[in-house]
Amino acid sequence: MIENWSPIDSFRGNSSNPATGISRACPVCQSLESRILLTLKDFQFYSDSAVLPKRMTLTQAQCRSCFTIYLNPGYSSYGFRALFAEAGCSYGATSVRSQEQRAWLDNRNLLKPGSRLLDVGCYDGKFLSELPDAVEKVGFDIDAPAIERGRSLYADKKIQFVHGDFESFSPEEAPDVITMYHVLEHLPDPVAALKNLRQFSHAETRLVIEIPILENGKTNDINGFLSVQHMTHFSRRSFHNALKMSGWTILDENNRLEYGGYRVLAKPCEMQSGILPDIEDLSRALDYLSSWHSAVRTANEKLTGIVAEDRLVIWGGGAHLEFLYQTTALFDMAPSRDCLIVDSDSLKQGKSWRGISCCAPEVLSQVDWSSTTLVVSSYGGQESIFKGALQAGVPEEKIVKLYDKVCVY
Ligand SMILES: [Zn+2]
Repeated sequence: MIENWSPIDSFRGNSSNPATGISRACPVCQSLESRILLTLKDFQFYSDSAVLPKRMTLTQAQCRSCFTIYLNPGYSSYGFRALFAEAGCSYGATSVRSQEQRAWLDNRNLLKPGSRLLDVGCYDGKFLSELPDAVEKVGFDIDAPAIERGRSLYADKKIQFVHGDFESFSPEEAPDVITMYHVLEHLPDPVAALKNLRQFSHAETRLVIEIPILENGKTNDINGFLSVQHMTHFSRRSFHNALKMSGWTILDENNRLEYGGYRVLAKPCEMQSGILPDIEDLSRALDYLSSWHSAVRTANEKLTGIVAEDRLVIWGGGAHLEFLYQTTALFDMAPSRDCLIVDSDSLKQGKSWRGISCCAPEVLSQVDWSSTTLVVSSYGGQESIFKGALQAGVPEEKIVKLYDKVCVY
């Protein structure tokens, strides 16, 4: 018997605190004029807490001068710590791509013996640890525990680790190559961070930087391009403007279409003040929103077959579940229905989300499936969760998948 079934929003202790957000100007051109593209009211960040503020209303705005899309208010440093306390690696996983990244650098002669490479946002240094021994390696991150972990994990790799702030840190010597993979979109002031890199570089320093861009942002995932982890949602043009303003000129660019990334190779130049907006970025934003709404509509249609009196098991207690709550009618149809979350992540087990307890998937064998439905709440993990549910004895007709196809990105 499972005792801890409970309905949605049965925990009343969650709160919001205005100190988690900071109202901001456009992160590229500093204009205060923007239009709102999307609002998610009282978005809950991970598990319930009676102590920490876990909710914040998220608004995605688009600058009316340069058309950059950005979160406004952004997270304050207190808000970032409180809201993302359970998020783990905050700059996305780059380890699976490190071989491709290394080959790309090698093909452009950027891994020369004796050269000095700085990885900005290095986390625990895994990418650096896989580079050739003859390259001098420096890693920087704002995450002090990750830096400490890197120092002990890769003690034999002669990596110099630096901890500090993106806008002010400085390595002991000017780097020959700077890499920055999927970091810039997380920073509150990306132009200040790029200017900082520029001021400690020498004339021949090469900057390799990769971000997700609006042009590559369409997916059928309800937790899509406008990620709550990102403070700026660049387009190709708004990124070019940020580089120009901070004294970098582009030598080479390419799209990593397999996961929607956009990578440039840049070198130092004079800082330029003139912003060149691309009016098409408004159309692109609307086009993206239209594809996102279509993804939400498809997911919502998959949920309409769930019988109202059924109990609900949701497999997947991450941010995707909050998007289900925010955007679909899953919990609107029967707000007093008993629910349970299962997740194989031991950090989530024993906690609750909006009052619903999270358990290990082992409990599935105790569920009476005659009046219970299981919803798979994951995009990338949908197929493996589906298989896991079948193996746990959940009848196939009682499993709801939200996506007809899943693209790896
Ligand atoms: Zn702007």
